[in-house]
Amino acid sequence: MTFPTEQLLFTPAAPTSQALSLLFAFPNTYSVGITSLGYQVVWGLLQARSDLRVSRLFTDIHEPLPRHPDLLGFSLSWELDYVNILSLLESLEIPVRSKDRTHGCFPLVFGGGPVLTANPEPFADFFDVILLGDGEELLHSFIDTVQIVQGADRVTQLLTLAQVPGVYVPSLYEVTYHSQEGAISAIQPITAKVPPQVSKQTYRGNQLSTSTVVSPKAAWENIYMVEVVRSCPEMCRFCLASYLTLPFRTPDLQTSLIPAIEQGLAVTNRIGLLGASVTQHPEFDQLLDYFTRPVCADLRLSIASVRTNTVTVKLAKILTQRGSRSITIAIESGSDRLRQIINKKLENEQIYAAASAAHQGGLKGIKLYGMVGLPGETPEDLEATLLLMGDLKRQTPGLRLTLGCSTFVPKAHTPFQWFGVNPQAKQTLQRLQNRCALKGLSIGRRAITGRCYKPCYQEGIAVCHIY
Ligand code: SF4
Repeated sequence: MTFPTEQLLFTPAAPTSQALSLLFAFPNTYSVGITSLGYQVVWGLLQARSDLRVSRLFTDIHEPLPRHPDLLGFSLSWELDYVNILSLLESLEIPVRSKDRTHGCFPLVFGGGPVLTANPEPFADFFDVILLGDGEELLHSFIDTVQIVQGADRVTQLLTLAQVPGVYVPSLYEVTYHSQEGAISAIQPITAKVPPQVSKQTYRGNQLSTSTVVSPKAAWENIYMVEVVRSCPEMCRFCLASYLTLPFRTPDLQTSLIPAIEQGLAVTNRIGLLGASVTQHPEFDQLLDYFTRPVCADLRLSIASVRTNTVTVKLAKILTQRGSRSITIAIESGSDRLRQIINKKLENEQIYAAASAAHQGGLKGIKLYGMVGLPGETPEDLEATLLLMGDLKRQTPGLRLTLGCSTFVPKAHTPFQWFGVNPQAKQTLQRLQNRCALKGLSIGRRAITGRCYKPCYQEGIAVCHIY
């Protein structure tokens, strides 16, 4: 397979003769990797530097690779991709463990992204350096320092890099656990030359991320992605997408978002609005008005999962006019009681209203994300979900309902991080499917690969299609 013809939205710098060679990898296929906005943005930042010569590497395709790269970087979006990192290291004949890469002929292996930032320790052995937090400024600080220590021995390199805020060098810290499968009891630097704590970096600028490349082979063909918000102010107790990236940030509509969208419209008619809680942008209504202009008549607009009580007829109409057939809302459960436990500020009445608005606006379907195995869940909560789906079916005939239900997986940094995985969750999921079947609802199963950000920290999804 060869690289498809891509449209770049930036001008790559011409590498100087002294440029360091850098492999920038995504541990999945090209189609999945190029649809990751995080991967695109970091690639654009790296390519804009004349002191780097960058080659991209995916599991199925790569650009011409240098024989002995100086740096190998990984962008991580999904935990299930970790195993592919090991395969890629092996295929490049690079030792998988950092401790075996002590001499200079091996590249410095670094990684970043939400999954590594949230919980770097399970995979710390495989990285020389882990970048914690937003990459916008951190990446440049890291590369600038790499340039300074280029040519030094590996120990000096790592000690120097460890001084950069947000740069975690796992080999310079000793981590002890209460038991083999227990919690961490202490993290101590092995030398006084490195900071005792590494702080996650938070980008505070007004300009959030936008696509740096538009590709016909992206999972959503030729899509240009715009990050409309970062984080989410709702703070549902299980939600990594909220807690990991706080504070909630919203770029200004006129000076930031619209110019960014117009850059994309110059090369494609397909726009994707991204973010954990897109409709909570304070100027979202004006943004919708922007898309109703006649000049946007050929536009295809996609939107990430939206907060249920922000689904309006106006939103549904515009999505319908701009090529969307369905909308996705995360309800988590049909039980108001359980949603109170998880701090999901949503009531069943609002779910009915959202479905009705979607229908009135002309959308053909609504996808509902749910979870089982949540802390505090009882069998009655499962019944409440079934009841809700049945009622929705009756109240909005003709609207295609899809329930995608996964098992709760606790995530670091969230209030539910210590609850553990409910060992009954998979049976509960199966019971939900069986009960759907008994109620005459047609049921399907599917894997979650390719879905964006929020579902990536859930696993084992079952999907019930309800007609
Ligand atoms: S689950 Fe949705 S509404 Fe709740 S904090 Fe996460 S993104 Fe926000």
